[in-house]
Amino acid sequence: MKQIRSTVIRAGLEALYLSGAHHLLRPVFAGVGAIFMLHHVRPRDTREFQPNHHLEIEPAFLRAMLSHLRARDIDIVTMDEVFLRLTEKNFSRRFAAFTLDDGYRDNRDHALPVFREFDAPCIVYAVSDFAAGNGRLWWVALERAVASTDLIEVEIGGQMTRMAAKTPAQKQAAFDRLHDWLRALPGEHDVLREVAKLCARYGVDESAICRELCMSWDELKAFAADPLVTIGAHTITHPNLAKQREEEALNELKTSRERIEAALGRPVLHLAYPYGDKIAAGPREFALAKAAGFKTAVTTRPGMIFPESAGYMTALQRVSLNGNFQDERILPVLTSGTATAMWNGFRRIDAA
Ligand SMILES: [Zn+2]
Repeated sequence: MKQIRSTVIRAGLEALYLSGAHHLLRPVFAGVGAIFMLHHVRPRDTREFQPNHHLEIEPAFLRAMLSHLRARDIDIVTMDEVFLRLTEKNFSRRFAAFTLDDGYRDNRDHALPVFREFDAPCIVYAVSDFAAGNGRLWWVALERAVASTDLIEVEIGGQMTRMAAKTPAQKQAAFDRLHDWLRALPGEHDVLREVAKLCARYGVDESAICRELCMSWDELKAFAADPLVTIGAHTITHPNLAKQREEEALNELKTSRERIEAALGRPVLHLAYPYGDKIAAGPREFALAKAAGFKTAVTTRPGMIFPESAGYMTALQRVSLNGNFQDERILPVLTSGTATAMWNGFRRIDAA
């Protein structure tokens, strides 16, 4: 299923590029700016089974995007500046912002050097438990569990289910099925409980993953001292906020903000919703983010920034730089807004 979706998106991007439709549609969908979404930035790993590969791009692709924007004289700005331009209706120049979710150490080691080449700012949304070294990146844990075995055995809906996981294709199919099952479970604690069981069965040290991949408080503090870097909040535990009770969700927003502010000694005014799609962040979460005092909050719903985005400061859409589509030919398609317009049904604002 994921493979099919990927293939359709790739075909769509190529069709847009080859048809030149992105040139024709640009005036309608380009908007006044774009907020790009990244996760990992690191050199390519050659392993065949990489189900989370969409969450990483290579430094060279980031460099290509930054060159593309600079060549078109598009301003690369902070989220504070995005807020200001929207508030003041200052659209004399197009702008782009770069946002990186989760607080991975490779952001410092591989992304920051590229941002420095272009003197371009970026924001990293940190998860306070990840920085404290006790968070749970369950999607990585799941990948490692599937990678470690030839046969997955798991109880799904009271039924012992066996999945072959010998070849990379079988591993991908097993991962997709488990991932879809986990995301459909009723509560966040259900996901964490089931992943913990899988980790115990397949010998994955889940608690070590966030210390291996994410910046600690000390590292974040040093990273945040770089004038190009802003740190935003991405909750305490990285939950699906929409599945939580209102007071729990509000606590995730407020307390993560307080913890990051206390650790870094600077204000935290910008938020990214974990997962950030329709099933993880909706109108209730957009209101909670406002109540928690954030100036802006970004989703993972695809879209460009339009003048009317000013009315939806805590529901801003983004353009994903996806690891599965690192072809330089798609850069003009992404900045034209045509691809995201297609993906979100040609809506300029998607905040319902
Ligand atoms: Zn995240």
